[in-house]
Amino acid sequence: MDFKNNINQEVLIDKFDRIVDYVRISVTDRCDFRCVYCMDDEMEFVPRAQLLTLEEISKIALAFTELGVKKIRITGGEPLIRRNVIQLFENIGQLPGLDELVLTTNGSQLKKFARPLKDAGVKRINISLDSLNVDRFKRITRVGELNNVLSGIDAAIKVGFEKIKLNTVILKNRNDDEIINLVRYASDRDMDISFIEEMPLGVIGDHDRAEVYYSSDQIRNVLEKEFTLVPTTETTGGPSKYYKLAETATRVGFISPHSHNFCEQCNRVRLTCEGRLLLCLGQEDSVDLRKTLRAYPGDMDKLKQDIKNSMLIKPKGHDFNLREKPIIFRHMNVTGG
Ligand code: SAM
Ligand code: SF4
Repeated sequence: MDFKNNINQEVLIDKFDRIVDYVRISVTDRCDFRCVYCMDDEMEFVPRAQLLTLEEISKIALAFTELGVKKIRITGGEPLIRRNVIQLFENIGQLPGLDELVLTTNGSQLKKFARPLKDAGVKRINISLDSLNVDRFKRITRVGELNNVLSGIDAAIKVGFEKIKLNTVILKNRNDDEIINLVRYASDRDMDISFIEEMPLGVIGDHDRAEVYYSSDQIRNVLEKEFTLVPTTETTGGPSKYYKLAETATRVGFISPHSHNFCEQCNRVRLTCEGRLLLCLGQEDSVDLRKTLRAYPGDMDKLKQDIKNSMLIKPKGHDFNLREKPIIFRHMNVTGG
């Protein structure tokens, strides 16, 4: 694809005057793990014919950068299990106007892909890690091998990304006694860590979200007994509230959709692997970009117009409630976390 001569002049603004300059792209809903809060044991995945091709994803990424998007995150499912995904990173990594190409991964494939990702222009990566105990790790991910992920993290550190951040979901009575250890593991390796409150996306048979809910404020209280948390005004363009550990260079983030609503500053939209452009993580409003791409092949103006029009239906915010039945039936692997 020829990306030359694309002059970026436009900006996406929704009807609440929020500028959208960040897109999260889910390249697959499949995964080699089955984390208890993300997926059901038995999942039905999108048939392959319904997936956007890598070429189609690249076109949508190009359209977004021409509309002022500065940051693209590749996610899933597990993005690194999609065949030939490095080609996509190489395509998106060279888009003019894009400041940051980043990745969220479970780390299982990093031993193999850390170097090609860095070479493709990925600057920062987020790696999910909920436990440093082999058995527990397996229980939370249902199938994951901790040692494989830890050597993936080592490979990523060796390659030298600008920043590596761990993403951790704390579940009451499952891994809440590992908060300090996980922060130490991160700080010993000069990584940041963000704690994410569980969100009610999709019904999961054997998992009661309200029962295991553990708030960001509880985590902060645990950490304050061990470390000095200095509030910062720093932002990485996301909803994390960051603190610096006075004792180290590590930053600790809290993503708190329940205890602290972050919708007012929302600057992002999400593309599912089927090409549905979701305007909010916690609502169903969306536009079918696959339909546009396949009905008007090669028509970038039509694609960009549909993206611009989507700004009119971006909702004001989400409305999560763990004790009620989920209003969102999509699991996180579909939404693209
Ligand atoms: N497979 C990759 C990974 O695990 O990093 C990328 C996709 S995963 C859906 C992205 C992030 O979403 C992970 O950090 C995971 O812990 C988080 N996540 C999944 N389900 C969640 C839920 N219901 N609530 C909050 N975070 C969730
Ligand atoms: Fe897979 Fe990530 Fe979901 Fe875990 S959180 S099941 S690794 S997509």
